[in-house]
Amino acid sequence: MAIIIDGKELSKKIREKLKIECENLEKNNIKPQLAVIMVGDDPASKVYVRNKSKACKEVGVDYVEYLLDKSIKQKELIDLIEKLNNDKNINGILLQSPIPKHLNIEEAFEKIDYRKDVDGFHPMNVGKLALGQDSFVSCTPFGVIKMFEEYDIDLCGKNVVILGRSNIVGRPLIQCCINKNATVTVCHSKTRNTKNITREADVLISAIGKPNFVTEDMVKDGAVVIDVGINRLDDGKIVGDVDYEKVKEKASYITPVPGGVGPMTIAMLINNVIKATKQQNNIK
Ligand code: NAP
Repeated sequence: MAIIIDGKELSKKIREKLKIECENLEKNNIKPQLAVIMVGDDPASKVYVRNKSKACKEVGVDYVEYLLDKSIKQKELIDLIEKLNNDKNINGILLQSPIPKHLNIEEAFEKIDYRKDVDGFHPMNVGKLALGQDSFVSCTPFGVIKMFEEYDIDLCGKNVVILGRSNIVGRPLIQCCINKNATVTVCHSKTRNTKNITREADVLISAIGKPNFVTEDMVKDGAVVIDVGINRLDDGKIVGDVDYEKVKEKASYITPVPGGVGPMTIAMLINNVIKATKQQNNIK
């Protein structure tokens, strides 16, 4: 039976440490501030934004929200980003996705000053991560890596298999795992014989968004299984990508959903806001 990686508890521990960092910054009259831009009224985004706001306030990060109408033009969005780039009181900028289809999200991400890009989506940060340089790392992959570190799971020389290659999870995870000296294989919707590949994984990370996709016959005995997926079933229940009840009998470590990777994402966002604040104030 696997050890359950408790993301909720770990996130709480990290946020407590970050609170102390905020208190120390306040002694120098510095208060980190995050600006969140949301366009339209996507219900899931509203929940995410509410959770981010609550966590920021608890840790001591100021939080300012810009709610834009779904009919807004690209120029208005870019003008707001540029205003926030130039505002010395704002340390981090986050554009909540998705945004309406008529807007160009790639251009918007690129307009965010990469030094305030706490989501790690700017090409400069993506490129730095790929080069193994210090950068802002996308919060969910960063949260996964933090779990490995906190549970002393060493990736060096391990076969890591990642299911999914999205820009926000799968791709940055590839770089994060390579930077930890893992041997990385990525599966996506065009991969053949996925099961043969996952069976070889010492560490299996699923980020595809399909309930019960990872079944016990896809998992090697003693593998570490990280479930990034968040799927809402018809009865309202939230599950991951992994058949948790069966796979936990075979794995050495496993993350539950909810209470696994999800809470880590918010902790790493706050971590990135504080990192940005320190960099902008030349504090080590
Ligand atoms: P996404 O953009 O929809 O990407 C899904 C990825 O899965 C794609 O790369 C796709 O391949 C791949 N895929 C689809 N079917 C597959 C299959 N049969 N075998 C292997 N790969 C397959 O999703 P995302 O934004 O990365 O999110 C993935 C999941 O993580 C979702 O459930 C999401 O809710 C969750 N999530 C959780 C957090 C968190 O904080 N815990 C954060 C972000 C996302 P192609 O590239 O070939 O299409």
